[in-house]
Formats: sequence, C-alpha cells, structure tokens
Amino acid sequence: MKILIVDDSATMRKIISRVLRQAALNIETLIEAANGREGLEKLQAHPDIHLVVTDINMPEMNGVDFLRTLRLQKSKEQLPVFMITTEGGDAMRLAAMALGANGYITKPFTPETIQAALGRYAA
Ligand SMILES: [Mg+2]
Repeated sequence: MKILIVDDSATMRKIISRVLRQAALNIETLIEAANGREGLEKLQAHPDIHLVVTDINMPEMNGVDFLRTLRLQKSKEQLPVFMITTEGGDAMRLAAMALGANGYITKPFTPETIQAALGRYAA
C-alpha cells in the first residue's frame, strides 16, 4: 500500500518513515508532504494512496484544516487518516476525531504502537 506522511519537520518525516517500515505493515511506497496544502496536491497526483498519517501543527495548512478539506472529498472508509499528536493533546485529539480522523498516534511512538493503531488498515 501507499502511505502519505504529512509533517513540516523533515526529521520527523524520516522518523515516521522508519518506524512505519519497522512496524511490519504492508508498505509499498511512502510519499511525503510538508504541510496540508502539499498533502492535498500529493493526493491528487497519487489517487492510489491508501492511508494518511499527518502532523497537526504545520505552516500554510495545518493538519486539522487538511483533514477537514480531505473529508469533503473522501470518507473515513475511502481514505483512513491518522493524526500524530503529543502527550496531553486531548482537546486536539477529540477535535480531530470529530472531524473524521480514523485514529491518532501519540508521540513518542514505537513500531508496536504504530502496528496497534494502523495494523487493521495496513495488513
Ligand atoms: Mg509540526
């Protein structure tokens, strides 16, 4: 499967890529974007992306606006979206779930926590 990683930190994108690959998911290609606007562009260029993992705080278009825009086009079933959140970000997590996120991954994460969150979607 193709997974889109959206995060404004290149280091974070590298870490997420590595942990996703270690998580024993069925990954064919990882595509990266630096903010929500770029994420929407990548989704348009690659309509076969199966799943999205996105940061929340990003310039240009943040993860919440990205998710809101995305959900006007694709349902939770059509394109699962997981938010990356920080410890204590409960309000943000609730907002993301209400907007149609399929789940969230809390930093710091391990291959095991990634597997637990995404396994059912990326078997
Ligand atoms: Mg960020």
